[in-house]
Amino acid sequence: MPRPLKTESVVLRSIRYGEADRILHLYTPHLGRLGAIAKGVRRSRSRFGARLEPFFHVSVVLHEGSGELATVTGADTVAANAELRNHAETLDAAARACDAVARLFETPEPHPEVFRLLVSELTLLNEWEGHARPANGLAFRLKLLLAAGIVPQLGACASCGARDHLHGFSAAAGGVVCSSCQGSGFPLEEESYRFMVSALGAPLAEAPDASERALRQAERAIVEQAEHHAHVRLRPLQPFAGVSPSSRPVRVARAAVRIDANG
Ligand SMILES: [Zn+2]
Repeated sequence: MPRPLKTESVVLRSIRYGEADRILHLYTPHLGRLGAIAKGVRRSRSRFGARLEPFFHVSVVLHEGSGELATVTGADTVAANAELRNHAETLDAAARACDAVARLFETPEPHPEVFRLLVSELTLLNEWEGHARPANGLAFRLKLLLAAGIVPQLGACASCGARDHLHGFSAAAGGVVCSSCQGSGFPLEEESYRFMVSALGAPLAEAPDASERALRQAERAIVEQAEHHAHVRLRPLQPFAGVSPSSRPVRVARAAVRIDANG
């Protein structure tokens, strides 16, 4: 009988299953993304308590089963990230961050740097008192593209190698493109270009600010790059800069339901 395995993990999704169980999508440092079942977790006396909900950073004990799912036999909380659940904006941003990881890294291939990045992102969202920064969300996605090996080329035209007049972006070419090669892409302003360069070079907590227009362009570049090179459709950031819905309890309830229905 295989030995139990203990690993840190972040709960990406938690799907109701049967009468009292949950199927979990976990992201781990050394086993990548894996599926597990937590039996009896929805009973009020479950020893797991609420620990296996999305965005929990937990240390789990897993037993390999005969099927695709491992069985969770123990779970200790490393970080509950409870504060981010109290606000629609950070709850939504956390759900989208987990979704981006799940879509870009869906295999057991280990990416410990992605695990650390996700833990940092959830920690930040938990500390920001209900406000998610779009610049941070985009910096997170750029760093995911880097880890996936499909980060946009930013140093020179991805089509001809020119180093000047980089005024466009083409996912087909693989990054920024110069004025002569721009036919295959869309216009990318200087501010968006600078944002992407600085966001990649800065720690997640220090993602540079930029105008909404610049961030929208950067988002388009990131989404198209992931679609073209990983065949993954990343969900756009929402809400973008602007009105915070965090003071409206109705929105909180709706967001929570949606995540539950989703998984
Ligand atoms: Zn060119």
